[in-house]
Amino acid sequence: MTPTGLARSKPLPAAAVRSVTILGATGSIGASTIDLIKREPNRYRVEAISARRNAGALAKIAREVGARLAVVADPDYYSELKDALAGSGIEAAAGEGALVEAAQRPADWVMAAISGSIGLKPTLAAIERGATVALANKECLVCAGAFFMRRAAIAGATVLPVDSEHNAVFQALGAGRREDVKRVILTASGGPFRTWTLDAIKAATPEQALCHPNWSMGPKVTIDSATLMNKGLELIEAHHLFALAPDEIDVLVHPQSVVHGLVEFRDGSMVAQLGSPDMRIPIAHCLAWPRRIDGPAARLDLARVRELTFEEPDLARFPALALARQAMETGGAAPTVLNAADEVAVGEFIAGRIGFAAIATVVEATLEATAARGLLGEPAGLDAALAIDHIARSLAQELAGALA
Ligand code: MG
Repeated sequence: MTPTGLARSKPLPAAAVRSVTILGATGSIGASTIDLIKREPNRYRVEAISARRNAGALAKIAREVGARLAVVADPDYYSELKDALAGSGIEAAAGEGALVEAAQRPADWVMAAISGSIGLKPTLAAIERGATVALANKECLVCAGAFFMRRAAIAGATVLPVDSEHNAVFQALGAGRREDVKRVILTASGGPFRTWTLDAIKAATPEQALCHPNWSMGPKVTIDSATLMNKGLELIEAHHLFALAPDEIDVLVHPQSVVHGLVEFRDGSMVAQLGSPDMRIPIAHCLAWPRRIDGPAARLDLARVRELTFEEPDLARFPALALARQAMETGGAAPTVLNAADEVAVGEFIAGRIGFAAIATVVEATLEATAARGLLGEPAGLDAALAIDHIARSLAQELAGALA
């Protein structure tokens, strides 16, 4: 008899070489994925990699990992890519259609790390052929979550969440049966303004908002962490990923960013995943799933962390989180509009044209304007989601212009 709860009952078959495709190989998630793959050259074979424009960096990675195909999304960089790959035997391609074709190539595992709406079609292509997809693109779930998860279920695709919070919840969900889950908790660092007063937050500059205490990320997601919109978008993602009702998902502010997510079961047990704030941990989990590989991230030293603290998010100081919850409850295209308006508003804030508090104001006004025009019905597919995204962006731009 096995004395512990460790899963010894079902041994996994011997590890085969896993063929992988990395969409968005030059961004921070892509770079971490490549880093892990280079450490395990006998376990992974790289089929295709892509980048938006950085042909030089992409060609360098393609040569290092021996990829078969490299794709730049922007066709203007095709000749640069082709020249950089000359003599390597690695195929070069360009354009959005080539991204979709890269996703369709027969790799067992696809990292979907293209950020923005340009990531929707290639990710869907990987899902539709039933691949195991490590999902790092937020838009798939935020803008067309119901559609995406339905297509994944039909195709028999496996969606593995890369984001640290969802990956934590995914891991914790393994401790019990889905029907025994009472609720899920996503943690939030609270961002740089966690302890600031409402007035101080309203006057925050882009430089102050771009300074995240725990994670180093791109500017959009860093500003979203400062408003807590990032956590709001994650609520919507969790709602679709794990088929949870809005009232089954809570947010807790946890400034140390050590506990990434928790699952509460009906018997009162709470299961959490902990780790250093290093994206290579959730990425390694996805890359090797359902196995584990050695991870290079710093080990978590709890004695050194000493204190883990938790607090309720303050919706008065961080209204973006309340707006996101409202959009999740409204459903349909409301999350699509929320995301589009937020992207416009964050861009305007970074450019110095609107204040920090105006980000939430623009998002709220755009939601109201689209609701008033009857535009918040469920998008039937990607094109419908992209169409409402487009309308929301121009409305948000107008509303932000009026505030500037
Ligand atoms: Mg996150």
